[in-house]
Parts: sequence; C-alpha cells; structure tokens
Amino acid sequence: MIDSELLSILACPVCKEPVELQATPGDGVDGWLVCARCGRRYPIRDDIPIMLVEEAK
Ligand SMILES: [Zn+2]
Repeated sequence: MIDSELLSILACPVCKEPVELQATPGDGVDGWLVCARCGRRYPIRDDIPIMLVEEAK
C-alpha cells in the first residue's frame, strides 16, 4: 500500500511530526497514519493518505 519512501515524507499537519503506519483496514479505509504526538489518525483511502485535520480521528 504505502511505501516507506512516501511514509518518510509524510507528517502530521498539526505538529509536523512523522506519522506511523497502522495497517488496519476497515470502515472504508486501507489503514491509518498515526501521529505519535497528538494521537490523530489520518485515513488512507485507495492507497492515498488523507493528511487533513478535518479527516483525522
Ligand atoms: Zn500530530
């Protein structure tokens, strides 16, 4: 799904911290990108990370 090179350039838009891949499909998403600092989870839909605060859980 998400390759590690892409993952390494992704960051939480709120705290600018690197995010961690959480490959738990379900609820219409392929997985989540989790920020270790604020705990927000950004969905991955159709292999595309949605790094938007409005979409975060
Ligand atoms: Zn964050």
